[in-house]
Amino acid sequence: MTDHRARVILRGAVQGVGFRPFVHRLATSMELRGWVSNGPHGVSVEVEGPRERLDEFVLRLGKEKPPRASIQSLETSWLEPAGYGGFEIRASGGTGAPSALILPDIATCPDCLRDIFDPSNRRHRYPFTNCTNCGPRFSILEALPYDRPNTSMRRFAMCSDCEREYRNPRDRRFHAQPIACPRCGPHAELWDAAGAVAATGDEAVAAAGAAVREGRVLALLGIGGFQLLVDARDEEAVRALRRRKHREQKPLALLYPDTGLVRRDCVVGPLEERLLESPEAPIVLLERRPGTGAIAPSVAPGNPRLGAMLPCSPLHHLLLRGLGFPVVATSGNLSDEPLCTDPREALNRLCGVADWFLVHDRPIVRPIDDSVARVLLGREQLLRRARGYAPLPVPVRDFLPPVLGVGAHFKNTVALGAGRSVFLSQHLGDLSTPAAHAAFVQAAADLPRLYGVEPGLLAHDMHPDYLSTRFAEESGLPVVAVQHHHAHVLACLADNGLEPPALGVAWDGTGMGLDGTIWGGEFLAADEDSFTRVAHLHPFRLPGGEAAIRQPRRCAFGALHEAAPGKLFADPAAPPLCHFRAAEIRTLRRMLETGTNAPRTTSAGRLFDAAASLAGLRQVADFEGQAAMDLEFAIDAEIAGAYPFAVGGRAPWVVDWRPALAAMLDDARAGRPAGVLAAMFHNTLAAMVLAVARLAGRRRVVLTGGCFQNRRLTELCVRRLEEAGFHPAWHQRVPPNDGAIALGQVLAAARTRRAAP
Ligand code: ZN
Ligand code: ZN
Ligand code: FE
Repeated sequence: MTDHRARVILRGAVQGVGFRPFVHRLATSMELRGWVSNGPHGVSVEVEGPRERLDEFVLRLGKEKPPRASIQSLETSWLEPAGYGGFEIRASGGTGAPSALILPDIATCPDCLRDIFDPSNRRHRYPFTNCTNCGPRFSILEALPYDRPNTSMRRFAMCSDCEREYRNPRDRRFHAQPIACPRCGPHAELWDAAGAVAATGDEAVAAAGAAVREGRVLALLGIGGFQLLVDARDEEAVRALRRRKHREQKPLALLYPDTGLVRRDCVVGPLEERLLESPEAPIVLLERRPGTGAIAPSVAPGNPRLGAMLPCSPLHHLLLRGLGFPVVATSGNLSDEPLCTDPREALNRLCGVADWFLVHDRPIVRPIDDSVARVLLGREQLLRRARGYAPLPVPVRDFLPPVLGVGAHFKNTVALGAGRSVFLSQHLGDLSTPAAHAAFVQAAADLPRLYGVEPGLLAHDMHPDYLSTRFAEESGLPVVAVQHHHAHVLACLADNGLEPPALGVAWDGTGMGLDGTIWGGEFLAADEDSFTRVAHLHPFRLPGGEAAIRQPRRCAFGALHEAAPGKLFADPAAPPLCHFRAAEIRTLRRMLETGTNAPRTTSAGRLFDAAASLAGLRQVADFEGQAAMDLEFAIDAEIAGAYPFAVGGRAPWVVDWRPALAAMLDDARAGRPAGVLAAMFHNTLAAMVLAVARLAGRRRVVLTGGCFQNRRLTELCVRRLEEAGFHPAWHQRVPPNDGAIALGQVLAAARTRRAAP
């Protein structure tokens, strides 16, 4: 029975309340080894022992905590065992990082929830109730120190009752900066689409609920900006929302009144339950229960999972308890923009999208989206790190110079390295829109300002056209260009508390390579201060370049032109040619043969698209990654076989998938079911990872990049690698996608600085 090691970082009212002795008692009673320590960032715990007992330990930490303790953030990650002897309380250690810690926005605590549903309480049904243990933080913060005059609550003068609570050390609201009550605090209003006030206070909440019941689209000003809400059971309403928001097929998240109702639609394990009910209150991806028909089909078409979350503020609680059923809750924006945060601006930006606006007068300082998390291989994994998590730091081993990583282009985040911490901004989105760019510029200025750190160095992607790259170049500060996949690998190592050397498998859609071509199927040997591209997928041309991202059939065309041109053109009535008109075939063929407007790429993401097209699952996609999701969901789990492939040549080795795709083409034409093709394709990719790992000979293998959002791929790779004696690691606290790039950039830049003479 092998031991595991968990690291838990707890923040909130966990110091000076008997927390360390409690942890010590709990750990020793459960015969776990490790240590607990107080730091400037909260309480750190490391425990080692059998896996099930560690899971139980983490759950009991939250449930059996000392009465005066309150946990506002609990982040668990799993590390390689360290072989601790016993359990000890360690002396507090400084991290050398800025000592002020900005807490994220914290979901309503059980005490405040009781207050708002207690008719005798003076905050009965008050939507802006909070206390020292819960409420908005990062979303209202303008400057440090975190005092009321430095927050957007500044405009509300405390009434005498609130003032008394605020000054009373024995009160739960002692020094609660956003403290408020119906007499002195913010208020809710319901506006019609023209901005006319239709109702105020509790009536606004009731009327907003009535509108949702009637199938209307409600724009709700939440913690970090607007969300769009509709009745999740009402197919017509969901469709209307999709149409208006120009969001055709991307799955929509659901907001439930309580966990019990989530269980009716989804399978909720103990770890998932903890995530749902955690102070971070993220959207949690869950398996749907078969045979439940309550949720409208358009919520997540063709998707065996649902994203569910629980209310994160009293306003959400009041609305949802009144409704008693789940609602769709999606970002209040047009596709891929940051959330709209200003009510007046929302009337314009969400004009024609929302019918009603449930707003309030507590200004939001920066847009913060809902976070997305799931349980993968028995661990939490964040897919979008925002509300509830941002801007908490990732701890690192080395002492970092002040460096700002400006991230990539899609799913952008920025990161500030200082001391032994890397502070990560909230998810900012795709920088192509002016709104996202504005949020990016704000975040890049915010983080250094809030932490009082002057970055002497900016780290950016190698892609010259990313707006983040241009921002860095125009900053006037020294800059370092960091290769995209190297950043992925370093981020994944740091996420797991690991250091090079390691083999990094970085698979994604696109990333600028060292040779100026588009990489995306990379195997990088990461060393202390550098990396080597030890292997990559065989390159192929994408006819039409970027256009291929939304057209899996073009990826199939390009990949098969590389793999089996004879077979490809032999039968125009068979896939993939049957998905094109004759004239298109001629054009694309010319592009591929001449290489004009057909860039070469080693992208694993595009290979997934090609496979999904071949399997007959999707020819045109609504969003990047959709075809890969189809392929994952189609898998026939019984199938163990794989397609042939080869790894060869001189370093860097080329992983030749051409035999696999040629065989898959035969299968498709022979009419084998998509589920079989999908399973074989995934098995093949896992076999490729194992083959390269064997050649590279590094025990430690990290799996990173957007492709590893694919649950099946990650599970298969981890299992194969473990069976063969490797030590695989995957993302936990930071997402596998480009949301992690800024973190990796900071680490790479710090290393180059150290390596420089
Ligand atoms: Zn509270
Ligand atoms: Zn008051
Ligand atoms: Fe990437």
